[in-house]
Amino acid sequence: MKSATPTLQDRLRTLPSVTEADRHLESLGLPHGKAVRERVVAVIEGHRERMRGAGESVPLPAKADVLSEIEAAVARPAANQLRRVINATGVVVHTNLGRALLSPELTRPVEPLLHTYINLEFDLKTGKRGERGGQVPELLARLSGSERALVVNNNAAAVLLMLTALAAGKEVIVSRGELVEIGGAFRVPDIMRQSGARLVEVGTTNRTRLSDYAEAITADTAALLKVHRSNFALVGFTEEAGIAEMAALAAERGIAVWHDLGSGNFYRFEQPALRGIPTIAQEIQAGAELVTFSGDKLLGSVQAGIVVGAAEAVGRMRKHPLYRSLRVDRVRMALLEASLRAYLDIGTLRRRNLVIDMLERTREEMEPMARQLLEALGPLEGGGLTWELVPELSLPGGGALPEARIETLCLALSRPGEDGEALAAALRAGEPPVVGRLSEGRVLLDFRTLLPGDIPALAEAIGGL
Ligand SMILES: *Cc1c(COP(=O)(O)O)cnc(C)c1O
Repeated sequence: MKSATPTLQDRLRTLPSVTEADRHLESLGLPHGKAVRERVVAVIEGHRERMRGAGESVPLPAKADVLSEIEAAVARPAANQLRRVINATGVVVHTNLGRALLSPELTRPVEPLLHTYINLEFDLKTGKRGERGGQVPELLARLSGSERALVVNNNAAAVLLMLTALAAGKEVIVSRGELVEIGGAFRVPDIMRQSGARLVEVGTTNRTRLSDYAEAITADTAALLKVHRSNFALVGFTEEAGIAEMAALAAERGIAVWHDLGSGNFYRFEQPALRGIPTIAQEIQAGAELVTFSGDKLLGSVQAGIVVGAAEAVGRMRKHPLYRSLRVDRVRMALLEASLRAYLDIGTLRRRNLVIDMLERTREEMEPMARQLLEALGPLEGGGLTWELVPELSLPGGGALPEARIETLCLALSRPGEDGEALAAALRAGEPPVVGRLSEGRVLLDFRTLLPGDIPALAEAIGGL
C-alpha cells in the first residue's frame, strides 16, 4: 500500500525527465536537444535540489509548470549574449555595464548617416582628403579652449600614442602617488614601458612636492606627466603639485607637462557633490601642454580617447604611424560629433546627454519614478518580500571624483530569512536582468541610474522573486 505522504523518490518522479522536456520543446518548435541541454538540466536540477533540501514542506510543482519554466529558460537569451540590463547600482559610468548611455534624442538624427557615405575624411570644398572626423577636432579645440585635438580609440590609446610619439627614448617624470592601475589593467608603468619612454618615479606614495620633480629633470627629460587617480583617493598626510606650478617649472626648464585626466567634461555640474570638478577648458588653462580623457566617461559619449592641447604636439601625434592603428570609425565619429554639438546648447544638454542627466538628478526628480514603482508593487504586499524607499548616497563612478557621494533615493528590498546575496542573484537571473547593490543584507535599487522605461520591467522582475 502507498503511504499518504510520498517519499522523496516519488516526489522527484513528478518532475519531467530531460527526454520528456526535449520532446515537449520539439513539439513547440523551440530549440531542443544538445544546444539547450544545459538550460533544461539546470531547471530540473533546481527543482530536485529544492525538493531534497526542503523535504515535504515544498508543494509539489505541477509537471506542466516545470515544462513552462523550461520553455522560458530556453527562449531566454544566453547569459553571455549582449542584451539590455537594468542598472540599479547608482553607478552612472559603470565600465562593466557599458559606461555612458547615449540618449535616443542624440542618436536619432545620426542614425541616417550610418546608411550613407559620409565626409569622414573628405574635404568637400577641395575634393581632396580632409581631416578625419570633419569638424570634430575643431569642436573639441573650441570647447576646450585649446589649439588642436585628436581622437583615437580610447584614453589608454591616447596616452600610449602621446608617450610613443613624443617621449620614446626619453624620460617622463611621474609622482609615485599617481602610478595607478585603472580598471581593465591600464597601468601607468606598463603603458610607459610599451611606449618606449623611460619612467622616472619621484616623491613618495602620499607626498610629492614640486621640488621632487625639479630635482629629477635631466637633459633627457621630455615631460612631467600628471595622472588622475580616478578610482581611488589619497587621504590623510598628503601633498601633491598642481598642474599650474608644474607648468611653470616645465616652462622654465624647457620641457612639457601632460595631464592624463581620464574623465573630463565641458560642463559645470550643479550637483553639490560634483561642483568641484574642473572643466577640460580649466585644465587646459592651468597650463598643461596636452590633456587626455575618455569619450565614454563623464563626457557621456562613445568610447574614444581625446587629446587636446598645443598644435605642434598634437600634430606630431597625428603624424606618428601608431595613430593609424588607433583611429576611430565613422559610427563613433558621427556620434561623438553629435555629443559635442549638444554641449553648445546648455538648455537641451540634459536631454541629449544621459550621463549629465543622471548625475544631476535630485531626489525630488526621482520621486515620480519611485511613486510609479511603489504603485506597481502594491499588489505584492504581504507576499513575503518587504520594501521601503530610503534616502541613500550613490557613488557616481566615472573616475572623476572617486570619493564623491551624491544624495539619492533607493528602494531597499529584502525577504526575512533570506540574505541579500540570494535576492540579488535572482534579480540578475531575470529577463531583463537587474543589477543592484547590497547593503546590510538588503538589495538597494538606486533610482539615479534607472531609465523611465525601466520601471514597469523592474516591477515585473521584483514580482517574479
Ligand atoms: C579611465 C582612465 C584611463 C583609461 O581610459 P579608457 O578610455 O578606458 O581607455 C586612463 N587614465 C585615466 C586617468 C583614467 O581615468
